[in-house]
Amino acid sequence: MDERFQPTMDYAEQLDAQDELAAFRKEFYLDEETIYLDGNSLGLLSRRAEASLTEVLSAWRDYGIDGWTEGKYPWFTLSEQLGEKLAPLVGAEADEVVATGSTTVNLHQLLATFYRPEGKRTKILADSLNFPSDIYAMQSQLALHGLDPAQHLIRVGSEDGCTLDEEAIIDAMTEEVAVTILPSVLYRSGQILDMERLTRIARERDIPIGFDLCHSIGAIPHELTTWGVDFAFWCNYKYLNSGPGGVGGLYVHRRHHGRAPGLAGWFSSDKAVQFDMDHRLTPAADTGAFQIGTPHVLSLAPLIGSLEIFAEAGIHRIRTKSLRQTRYLMGLVEAELDGMGFSFGNPLEDHRRGGHVCLLHEEAVRISKSLKEHWVIPDFRAPDVIRLAPIALYTSYREVWEAIRRLKEIMESREYEKYPKERGVVA
Ligand SMILES: *Cc1c(COP(=O)(O)O)cnc(C)c1O
Repeated sequence: MDERFQPTMDYAEQLDAQDELAAFRKEFYLDEETIYLDGNSLGLLSRRAEASLTEVLSAWRDYGIDGWTEGKYPWFTLSEQLGEKLAPLVGAEADEVVATGSTTVNLHQLLATFYRPEGKRTKILADSLNFPSDIYAMQSQLALHGLDPAQHLIRVGSEDGCTLDEEAIIDAMTEEVAVTILPSVLYRSGQILDMERLTRIARERDIPIGFDLCHSIGAIPHELTTWGVDFAFWCNYKYLNSGPGGVGGLYVHRRHHGRAPGLAGWFSSDKAVQFDMDHRLTPAADTGAFQIGTPHVLSLAPLIGSLEIFAEAGIHRIRTKSLRQTRYLMGLVEAELDGMGFSFGNPLEDHRRGGHVCLLHEEAVRISKSLKEHWVIPDFRAPDVIRLAPIALYTSYREVWEAIRRLKEIMESREYEKYPKERGVVA
């Protein structure tokens, strides 16, 4: 913790005054009453994302079918253009990334491409803390190969229920493993896995490795190409603020370019010959080959404006501020909520902590409801997790301070006790 730290409003305001990213806050639609700490689940709308969406709608209005090739952002190559803009955020070359599909669909595509059970190597290596959708995708891919998920899906366990030990994952990388799928940042605890090391060892053992970047893209820098990661996939609607259901992203390392997509469609095609309408697919020479069908143009459009903001702010400055804010938030929890039953589920070290703080409390459901009633938007995850994500582009230190002040009031007055213990439908 910063030795100048004080749990005062004054100190929060000092931090805001020194914040080089403070100007980006006005790019976003924020409700002055509400302290939004859920940008890791659904990022807020920016004026620039709204403008690019409007621009694409106007192209539809003005050009009709010709919008595929005319207008400011021709739709035919929009997925590749956005891939080029996403590439620096994952540490890849422009032709290694494409904006397409969704997290789950992209995982299916990548498993269909990279999961090749053969001889003794039949297993998928994953972890016990992964997001259910990823696990369902892996289980169904195993079933498609006629393999029993109970036998062929290995889920590395967690000692504390919050974090994973890289050693245990490495120990599980045996000769029976055909592919490894792991999160970059765990969605509940916010732990960052050591992607570089895991990749190095997976490659030494000839196991293709892919990462789910949902909770890291837009929050932390990556060097996927340098690390040698085989593939990655993610959604753009969390830290990247591309809107509900916004189109996702997919990365495949250059050494795999030329490999046939497991799930092909006409947008897997080399664009120069796509409209020849030949029944023999000529796949694109780059990561574009892993697209399937027509891009969801209106769901891609907000990402155009949103990525301009990331290019200006820079992911390294975003990460620096994010670490400062989560460290500050943890400092406030320690100073103000001591003895009230909270503990941290996230790693405390900077290099192992993603973009959010994971507060554990046995009354997490009721506390989350009470926070919402007080215009603080957290994110509850069963059974006992309250995730709090200060977002570097739009959350102020003053808001972090105020959120913890309100939380303290709720705890002292025991106001949360008036809520039922059942969680809502969404979180
Ligand atoms: C958000 C998230 C998803 C969501 O997948 P969709 O296909 O976009 O619904 C999947 N996996 C992880 C780890 C996530 O954080």
